[in-house]
Amino acid sequence: MDAKFWNARRCMLEPVPEIFGAAVLLDAAADFHAAGLADEARKALRTADIPAILDWCEQLWGGRGNLDAYRRSPVHRFRDVSDIPAREVLDGPGIPTVVQRKVLERDGCFCRFCGIPVIWQKAQKAVRDAYPDSVRWGARNVDKHTAFQAMDLDFDHIVPRGRGGRNTAENLFTSCAPCNCGRGNWTLEEVGVMDPRSVPADARATPPALSQWDRLTRVL
Ligand SMILES: [Zn+2]
Repeated sequence: MDAKFWNARRCMLEPVPEIFGAAVLLDAAADFHAAGLADEARKALRTADIPAILDWCEQLWGGRGNLDAYRRSPVHRFRDVSDIPAREVLDGPGIPTVVQRKVLERDGCFCRFCGIPVIWQKAQKAVRDAYPDSVRWGARNVDKHTAFQAMDLDFDHIVPRGRGGRNTAENLFTSCAPCNCGRGNWTLEEVGVMDPRSVPADARATPPALSQWDRLTRVL
Protein backbone atom coordinates (compact mmCIF):
# COMPACT_ATOMS: atom_id res chain seq x y z
CA MET A 1 0.00 0.00 0.00
CA ASP A 2 2.65 2.47 1.00
CA ALA A 3 5.02 1.75 -1.89
CA LYS A 4 2.14 1.95 -4.32
CA PHE A 5 1.02 5.23 -2.83
CA TRP A 6 4.42 6.76 -3.38
CA ASN A 7 4.70 5.64 -7.00
CA ALA A 8 5.43 8.96 -8.62
CA ARG A 9 2.50 10.34 -10.55
CA ARG A 10 2.34 13.70 -12.18
CA CYS A 11 -1.39 14.17 -11.77
CA MET A 12 -4.29 12.52 -10.00
CA LEU A 13 -5.91 11.31 -13.23
CA GLU A 14 -4.42 11.22 -16.72
CA PRO A 15 -6.46 13.33 -19.16
CA VAL A 16 -8.69 11.66 -21.73
CA PRO A 17 -7.59 12.10 -25.37
CA GLU A 18 -10.87 13.82 -26.21
CA ILE A 19 -9.56 16.96 -24.47
CA PHE A 20 -6.69 17.34 -26.93
CA GLY A 21 -9.07 16.73 -29.83
CA ALA A 22 -11.39 19.41 -28.48
CA ALA A 23 -8.47 21.84 -28.12
CA VAL A 24 -7.62 21.41 -31.81
CA LEU A 25 -11.24 22.22 -32.64
CA LEU A 26 -11.25 25.31 -30.40
CA ASP A 27 -8.00 26.44 -32.00
CA ALA A 28 -9.66 26.07 -35.42
CA ALA A 29 -12.72 27.96 -34.16
CA ALA A 30 -10.47 30.90 -33.21
CA ASP A 31 -9.02 30.90 -36.71
CA PHE A 32 -12.49 30.75 -38.29
CA HIS A 33 -13.60 33.61 -36.04
CA ALA A 34 -10.63 35.74 -37.11
CA ALA A 35 -11.43 35.00 -40.74
CA GLY A 36 -15.05 36.04 -40.31
CA LEU A 37 -16.31 32.47 -40.89
CA ALA A 38 -18.90 32.42 -38.09
CA ASP A 39 -20.78 29.30 -39.21
CA GLU A 40 -17.57 27.26 -39.34
CA ALA A 41 -16.57 28.62 -35.92
CA ARG A 42 -19.94 27.57 -34.47
CA LYS A 43 -19.62 24.09 -35.90
CA ALA A 44 -16.13 23.62 -34.42
CA LEU A 45 -17.25 24.93 -31.02
CA ARG A 46 -20.20 22.55 -30.89
CA THR A 47 -18.15 19.56 -32.00
CA ALA A 48 -15.65 20.27 -29.20
CA ASP A 49 -18.42 19.90 -26.59
CA ILE A 50 -17.64 16.21 -25.93
CA PRO A 51 -19.40 14.34 -23.05
CA ALA A 52 -16.34 12.20 -22.17
CA ILE A 53 -14.54 15.37 -21.07
CA LEU A 54 -17.12 16.09 -18.36
CA ASP A 55 -16.77 12.50 -17.12
CA TRP A 56 -13.05 13.13 -16.60
CA CYS A 57 -13.74 16.42 -14.78
CA GLU A 58 -16.29 14.83 -12.49
CA GLN A 59 -13.91 12.07 -11.45
CA LEU A 60 -11.43 14.75 -10.39
CA TRP A 61 -13.58 17.36 -8.72
CA GLY A 62 -16.61 15.31 -7.64
CA GLY A 63 -16.87 15.17 -3.85
CA ARG A 64 -14.11 17.71 -3.41
CA GLY A 65 -13.42 18.78 0.12
CA ASN A 66 -15.00 15.65 1.55
CA LEU A 67 -12.21 13.81 3.35
CA ASP A 68 -14.09 10.50 3.58
CA ALA A 69 -14.72 10.55 -0.16
CA TYR A 70 -11.03 11.32 -0.76
CA ARG A 71 -9.92 8.42 1.38
CA ARG A 72 -12.10 6.02 -0.61
CA SER A 73 -11.21 7.48 -4.00
CA PRO A 74 -8.58 5.72 -6.14
CA VAL A 75 -8.17 9.02 -8.00
CA HIS A 76 -7.32 11.20 -5.00
CA ARG A 77 -5.62 8.46 -2.97
CA PHE A 78 -5.54 10.50 0.24
CA ARG A 79 -3.44 9.53 3.21
CA ASP A 80 -2.36 11.20 6.43
CA VAL A 81 1.19 12.59 6.42
CA SER A 82 3.16 14.02 9.29
CA ASP A 83 4.85 17.43 9.23
CA ILE A 84 2.36 19.06 6.92
CA PRO A 85 1.11 22.64 7.17
CA ALA A 86 -1.76 23.31 9.54
CA ARG A 87 -4.98 24.97 8.48
CA GLU A 88 -4.48 28.70 8.24
CA VAL A 89 -5.15 31.35 5.62
CA LEU A 90 -2.57 34.11 5.21
CA ASP A 91 -3.45 35.50 1.77
CA GLY A 92 -6.82 36.35 0.21
CA PRO A 93 -8.17 34.70 -2.96
CA GLY A 94 -7.03 37.50 -5.28
CA ILE A 95 -3.73 36.81 -7.05
CA PRO A 96 -2.00 40.03 -8.20
CA THR A 97 -1.89 40.46 -11.98
CA VAL A 98 1.87 40.87 -11.95
CA VAL A 99 2.21 37.50 -10.22
CA GLN A 100 -0.18 35.82 -12.69
CA ARG A 101 1.87 37.18 -15.58
CA LYS A 102 5.10 35.88 -14.05
CA VAL A 103 3.64 32.38 -13.56
CA LEU A 104 2.30 32.24 -17.11
CA GLU A 105 5.61 33.38 -18.58
CA ARG A 106 7.36 30.61 -16.68
CA ASP A 107 4.80 27.80 -17.14
CA GLY A 108 3.40 28.41 -20.63
CA CYS A 109 -0.09 27.44 -21.73
CA PHE A 110 -0.52 23.92 -20.35
CA CYS A 111 -1.53 22.48 -16.97
CA ARG A 112 1.64 21.64 -15.01
CA PHE A 113 -0.11 18.61 -13.51
CA CYS A 114 -1.93 16.83 -16.33
CA GLY A 115 -0.56 18.65 -19.40
CA ILE A 116 -3.82 19.71 -21.04
CA PRO A 117 -3.98 23.09 -22.81
CA VAL A 118 -5.63 25.82 -20.74
CA ILE A 119 -7.75 28.81 -21.80
CA TRP A 120 -7.42 32.36 -20.48
CA GLN A 121 -10.72 33.24 -18.77
CA LYS A 122 -11.15 36.51 -20.67
CA ALA A 123 -10.77 34.61 -23.96
CA GLN A 124 -13.32 32.04 -22.81
CA LYS A 125 -15.81 34.82 -22.04
CA ALA A 126 -15.15 36.54 -25.37
CA VAL A 127 -15.95 33.33 -27.25
CA ARG A 128 -19.07 32.73 -25.15
CA ASP A 129 -20.25 36.28 -25.81
CA ALA A 130 -19.61 35.96 -29.55
CA TYR A 131 -21.27 32.52 -29.88
CA PRO A 132 -23.82 32.15 -27.05
CA ASP A 133 -25.77 29.59 -29.10
CA SER A 134 -22.71 27.32 -29.46
CA VAL A 135 -21.02 27.53 -26.03
CA ARG A 136 -23.40 26.25 -23.35
CA TRP A 137 -22.84 27.97 -20.01
CA GLY A 138 -25.64 27.15 -17.57
CA ALA A 139 -25.50 27.13 -13.79
CA ARG A 140 -24.58 23.43 -13.36
CA ASN A 141 -21.47 21.69 -14.68
CA VAL A 142 -23.64 19.41 -16.79
CA ASP A 143 -25.04 22.51 -18.51
CA LYS A 144 -21.64 23.92 -19.46
CA HIS A 145 -19.57 23.37 -22.60
CA THR A 146 -17.35 20.46 -21.54
CA ALA A 147 -14.06 21.56 -23.12
CA PHE A 148 -14.28 25.16 -21.94
CA GLN A 149 -14.92 24.13 -18.34
CA ALA A 150 -12.17 21.47 -18.34
CA MET A 151 -9.59 23.80 -19.88
CA ASP A 152 -10.36 26.75 -17.62
CA LEU A 153 -7.02 28.31 -16.54
CA ASP A 154 -6.43 28.29 -12.79
CA PHE A 155 -3.47 29.21 -10.63
CA ASP A 156 -2.88 26.40 -8.14
CA HIS A 157 -0.86 26.70 -4.94
CA ILE A 158 2.00 24.30 -4.11
CA VAL A 159 1.17 24.80 -0.43
CA PRO A 160 -2.63 25.26 -0.51
CA ARG A 161 -3.89 28.71 0.42
CA GLY A 162 -5.99 27.17 3.20
CA ARG A 163 -2.79 25.73 4.69
CA GLY A 164 -0.87 28.98 4.81
CA GLY A 165 0.31 29.00 1.17
CA ARG A 166 1.08 32.45 -0.21
CA ASN A 167 0.08 34.11 -3.47
CA THR A 168 3.65 34.25 -4.75
CA ALA A 169 4.97 33.08 -8.11
CA GLU A 170 7.18 30.60 -6.26
CA ASN A 171 4.11 28.99 -4.65
CA LEU A 172 1.88 29.12 -7.73
CA PHE A 173 1.75 27.23 -11.00
CA THR A 174 -0.49 27.02 -14.05
CA SER A 175 -3.22 24.41 -13.66
CA CYS A 176 -6.46 23.37 -15.28
CA ALA A 177 -9.61 23.75 -13.18
CA PRO A 178 -10.20 19.99 -12.64
CA CYS A 179 -6.68 19.40 -11.29
CA ASN A 180 -6.88 22.46 -9.06
CA CYS A 181 -10.40 21.83 -7.75
CA GLY A 182 -9.77 18.09 -7.48
CA ARG A 183 -6.82 18.52 -5.12
CA GLY A 184 -8.78 21.05 -3.11
CA ASN A 185 -7.12 22.02 0.15
CA TRP A 186 -4.85 18.99 0.41
CA THR A 187 -1.10 19.05 0.05
CA LEU A 188 0.86 17.28 -2.68
CA GLU A 189 2.12 14.84 -0.05
CA GLU A 190 -1.39 14.02 1.16
CA VAL A 191 -2.62 13.08 -2.31
CA GLY A 192 0.67 11.60 -3.50
CA VAL A 193 1.32 13.82 -6.52
CA MET A 194 4.76 14.98 -7.64
CA ASP A 195 5.75 18.59 -7.10
CA PRO A 196 5.16 20.18 -10.54
CA ARG A 197 8.28 22.30 -10.01
CA SER A 198 10.33 19.09 -10.17
CA VAL A 199 9.14 18.39 -13.72
CA PRO A 200 10.05 20.73 -16.62
CA ALA A 201 7.04 22.59 -18.05
CA ASP A 202 7.71 21.10 -21.49
CA ALA A 203 8.31 17.55 -20.27
CA ARG A 204 5.06 16.29 -21.76
CA ALA A 205 4.79 15.70 -25.47
CA THR A 206 2.46 18.33 -26.92
CA PRO A 207 0.43 17.18 -29.92
CA PRO A 208 1.96 18.88 -32.98
CA ALA A 209 -1.41 20.46 -33.80
CA LEU A 210 -1.22 22.36 -30.49
CA SER A 211 2.38 23.57 -30.74
CA GLN A 212 1.15 27.15 -31.25
CA TRP A 213 -1.48 27.02 -28.47
CA ASP A 214 -1.93 30.54 -27.03
CA ARG A 215 -4.67 30.02 -24.38
CA LEU A 216 -7.00 31.38 -27.12
CA THR A 217 -5.80 34.88 -26.28
CA ARG A 218 -5.82 35.82 -29.97
CA VAL A 219 -9.62 36.10 -29.92
CA LEU A 220 -9.30 39.16 -27.65
ZN1 LIG B 1 -4.72 19.53 -15.21
